[in-house]
Amino acid sequence: MKRIMLAGLAALVLIVAVVLFRTSQIGDSPETSSATIALITVDPATAAEHLAQAVRFRTVSTQDPADFDPEAFLGLQAWMRETYPDFYAAVSTETVDSYAQLSVWKGSDPTLEPIVFLAHQDVVPASEEPNSGWDKPPFDGIIADGFVWGRGAIDDKGSLIGLLEAANRLAADGYQPARTLIFGFGHNEEVLGSGAKAIAQTLKNRNIHPYAVIDEGGAITTGMPDAKGPVARIGVAEKGYVTLILTATAKGGHSSTPPTRTSIGALSRAIAAVEAHPFEQKLDPVLKKMLRATASEQSFMGRMAIANLWLFGPMVETKMMKSQSGRAMLGTTIAPTIINAGFKENALPREASAYVNFRIHARDSVDSLIAHVKAAINDPAIEISFAGTEGTEPSPVSQIGTGPYAWLASVVSDVFPGTIIAPNVVLGGTDSRYFSIVTDDIYRFAPFTFDSSDFSRIHGLNERMNVEDFAHGIQAYYLMLDRAGSRPD
Ligand SMILES: [Zn+2]
Repeated sequence: MKRIMLAGLAALVLIVAVVLFRTSQIGDSPETSSATIALITVDPATAAEHLAQAVRFRTVSTQDPADFDPEAFLGLQAWMRETYPDFYAAVSTETVDSYAQLSVWKGSDPTLEPIVFLAHQDVVPASEEPNSGWDKPPFDGIIADGFVWGRGAIDDKGSLIGLLEAANRLAADGYQPARTLIFGFGHNEEVLGSGAKAIAQTLKNRNIHPYAVIDEGGAITTGMPDAKGPVARIGVAEKGYVTLILTATAKGGHSSTPPTRTSIGALSRAIAAVEAHPFEQKLDPVLKKMLRATASEQSFMGRMAIANLWLFGPMVETKMMKSQSGRAMLGTTIAPTIINAGFKENALPREASAYVNFRIHARDSVDSLIAHVKAAINDPAIEISFAGTEGTEPSPVSQIGTGPYAWLASVVSDVFPGTIIAPNVVLGGTDSRYFSIVTDDIYRFAPFTFDSSDFSRIHGLNERMNVEDFAHGIQAYYLMLDRAGSRPD
């Protein structure tokens, strides 16, 4: 008996020792650098004025293709050529899919695989009604209180103009890349993404296999729940996307003599069944790396849990499950978004249908998702069909820590000393998803700094870009392009 107790005690002491040792190994020296290197000087006022001018073009994407305004896009493109003449003189530019722009800055060393930089010209709609909630009209391009205000100031004219400012400067400085730099500016990311898809297909047709693709989808964040200090979130993967329509049919007729099965009743049970069968919610390798990277921002207990996920993983998962974004990171999400049924209070509709939008985690696929939904509903009379397209599979995961990730991380730590660098999975979709046909290494990151309160402005009210942060981002883009075009050592 005494022996068993002693053995138990020894095991406990060992576990505590391992937990404490592992805790001591994490978090105290995050992956940052404080090297000081020379950055270009950027005049924030001029850069902000250019971003504001770009915002004034109403390059809006809406679900109805009839609303597409070619003049706005052609106007923006003419303005780009006029404003960035050195860039357009250095690259050869072609139009793809009518309004998307593909520019190639040919490198001197054809053995190096090109790097692709993406940004999109279109923006989501914004109401111009006086009482719509915008403090400044969304397409006036107003600069006030240290910000450029307006739809697209962040998403994605921030990246588009930031890249053009930096690339134009490089060209004006007489830069000649060794590695070819490719710029892809799609025109309908917010709806179809056919512009970016056509650019990716063009590269594939030309047998081009980029070393890396850089797009929006990550940034430097401050004041986030998991880290108060600045964290560069580099998107190394993005979730898949599919919307399913669930349809229930039943006898119609007068509501005074209803059948036992009604279309609305059956549909409601189906939706409730799907919600009652959530997909697996679990830490994955990218999330674990993200947690480790930001561990220095945690309390001792938090660091201890992250350093010992073999023991505390389920606790960490339970904590993450308490927030909407935490759940979205852990697994595939279920979101019923539209419901259609009925037209008269005393008539039974024959048909009831609902749209359910899913964001697919890498451990699931469109096929496995449909099988899961069918099993959850367990009613063969409910018809399941795709809304629009057949969905997008979750992206592959790009290299973390090595290859192009290391190149990007070196730029971030040189331009933003003291910033933690962490991999991330993008919960929305970006144009870059189409480029998995040409490369595995896609990174979703724009070098701008956003506070936790800024995220609701993207696709929301009062979108704005901080003028100083914009200028700082241009310095980062300049170094990123400069190093991208250099010969690797
Ligand atoms: Zn965007």
